[in-house]
Amino acid sequence: MNIVTGKVIIYAFIVVCTISYTTVSASLLRHNNSPNENDYPMVYTMDVPKDTAHSSTIEEFVTHLDLLSTKVVSQDHDDIVQLHFLVHSKEDYDSISTQAPYAMVEDVEETSSFHRYAQTPHIQDQRADTISGFPCYHNLEGMITFMRELETRAAAIDSLEVQVIDIGDSYEKTVNPTRGHDILALRITGSGVADRGWLTDKGIVFITCGIHAREYSPPELCARWAESLVNGYQQQNTDITSVLDHTEIHMIIESNPDGRVIAESNQAAYHRKNTRPGCSWSIGVDLNRNFPFQWGVGSGSSGSKCSQIYRGTAPASEPEVQAIVNHADSVFPRSQRKDDPSSALTLDDPYPEGSTVGVYYDIHAYTNLIIWPWTYEERTTGNEESIQAAARKLKSFNGYALAGPTQPDFIYAASGTTADYFYGELGALSFGYELGTAFYQDCQTFENSIVPDNIPGFLYTAKISTRPYSLAKGPDVIALTTATNANTLDVTVTVSDSSLSAGPGNHPPSTQSIASISLCADMHPYDTNPGGNDPVVITTPASGFIDNGGTTVTQVVSVPLSTLVSSVREGDEKGGERVLYVWGTDSDGFVGPVTAVSFDAVPTTSPTNAPTMSPTTSLTTSVPTTFPTNSPTGGPTTSPTISPTGTPRPTSTRTFVRFQSRLVLDVCLAVAGDQLTVETCDESEDNQFWLIDNNGFLENKKGRVVNENLKLELKPGMFNDSYVFCL
Ligand SMILES: [Zn+2]
Repeated sequence: MNIVTGKVIIYAFIVVCTISYTTVSASLLRHNNSPNENDYPMVYTMDVPKDTAHSSTIEEFVTHLDLLSTKVVSQDHDDIVQLHFLVHSKEDYDSISTQAPYAMVEDVEETSSFHRYAQTPHIQDQRADTISGFPCYHNLEGMITFMRELETRAAAIDSLEVQVIDIGDSYEKTVNPTRGHDILALRITGSGVADRGWLTDKGIVFITCGIHAREYSPPELCARWAESLVNGYQQQNTDITSVLDHTEIHMIIESNPDGRVIAESNQAAYHRKNTRPGCSWSIGVDLNRNFPFQWGVGSGSSGSKCSQIYRGTAPASEPEVQAIVNHADSVFPRSQRKDDPSSALTLDDPYPEGSTVGVYYDIHAYTNLIIWPWTYEERTTGNEESIQAAARKLKSFNGYALAGPTQPDFIYAASGTTADYFYGELGALSFGYELGTAFYQDCQTFENSIVPDNIPGFLYTAKISTRPYSLAKGPDVIALTTATNANTLDVTVTVSDSSLSAGPGNHPPSTQSIASISLCADMHPYDTNPGGNDPVVITTPASGFIDNGGTTVTQVVSVPLSTLVSSVREGDEKGGERVLYVWGTDSDGFVGPVTAVSFDAVPTTSPTNAPTMSPTTSLTTSVPTTFPTNSPTGGPTTSPTISPTGTPRPTSTRTFVRFQSRLVLDVCLAVAGDQLTVETCDESEDNQFWLIDNNGFLENKKGRVVNENLKLELKPGMFNDSYVFCL
């Protein structure tokens, strides 16, 4: 099921728009308009007939380009591959044009846009620790300070571990210890499980950001995630606490600090590589072609020092790459590695789904893509089904194009890359991201889409990072609310195999029905107690309202409080607050990731009559995506003080939890007496809702809806990614 149809359409539109470029005579440009020394780079296009695009001549030529994008377009009934690339200087232009197999045409509009971004003026009152003209991005020194301050702040938060680790030196520092930079890793994890005396099996998330210096947004996105994790842990956000207590996260926020200095101080240079000398007009080695797996293979890198994809003189010749490789070597378990990963005999063997740990991201900009191995040539890995299952789930959060091997949006081969190394050598489920629409991304786009679209996906990958190749195939909890009654905890849950799987067609792992829903309280299902008590898991067969062609179920699981109470083990109470862990299993037996929410403290003795007065505080939670990342925190803290009289009613706690959708659904709610009125602002006949009360009663309503049952769940029948729950 495709839950981001709206976005897909938008991207298709952008692609169509950007292929209409200004046509200028190539011969005219060669004489009059080629870049001069110290000038800004220019954007050129070249049309290559599709049937020759993969010839060795063209592939060799492309390694000399600073390629921005490739697009397949139809022209006069023939498919052509349109190359967009940057030309940095007169020398660059001369070197490319003497080898050009087809005419180079300047894209005037794109060129002027590159100039404009490179000249973004310093904004008045802009903080000194940000990049000139881009107040949303820490500059290099500001980012280092940010990391140190986060470490200091986290030291005061119980059970949270944040460390800045010096993992090696930049190239400049290896030449002269008084210059250059340390390469710093930020390690973030929670010790909440160990602090209770229990054991657990932690997942691993490893992220590199800023490998390419000119890509402004990736380091900041990583910093924002780090900050949100620390804030979430500090505020005892249930889901984030659960994630950090079960995941070790490592981020190299500034992977190329020497290059970043140039990219920040000389914006016109659009500097990508590190700073090793070698070419008079384009210094540096491309760190994302220097990793020691399939290094230098095929046409996916260049041996020319002036190339933007210069691979260096040997695998991991660059100190920055050595630092990252050495640190990763200490983080990922040796037991899951292959003896000779590059050997043709084992290259395509899948990593075992039941035991392999860890997810890796390399964050780049730009073009809104999700990339995965292999990248050194266009060929799928032995774990393609799982990796693509995870990629499709990430797409459901950010809407990016799937650009793995054999996908229509696969761009071009690249060898010696980060993602191939982390998958091929270490076993991590690996991705490359291309964020946004520009190297120097504007702050509005960064704040309004890049951050909110991507952080939920990061959290998702943390949840699957203990066993990513199997958990990605399992179903997801996409909505979850609880109501505490006199004798039961009613858990209203939607579990889906397909809802978070975006992209064309049906990927086989996302087509199963839901077999069962499992939950446990106060002890995460991955935890074990050396004292012998493990979590008590309650598993219920899926029997609720079926949707999305059978792949989604919504039901109320009523758990007797006595059962939950008996499942709470000695020493596992945390400030009176209880935590519920919920997950689903599909009909092929694939178990999905665990979602945690807090629920009200369970009364140990039941009153003889249930209270009739409502707690006056209602819970309101706004969740950034369909995946619940925040749990309600504003629960009723006081018990009803008026003595119960009369007959107990189903429940008097009203909880409105709205799961924000990519399709905006406006719902007006009004409560008068015992009547809850639910009214959509759009009364069109197409606007259907399914009303399900806690007994599973189902009613199909259109337009304006009035229902007397206060315990009401409302769900749009036609919009698969919008949910509004009213309990
Ligand atoms: Zn990049």
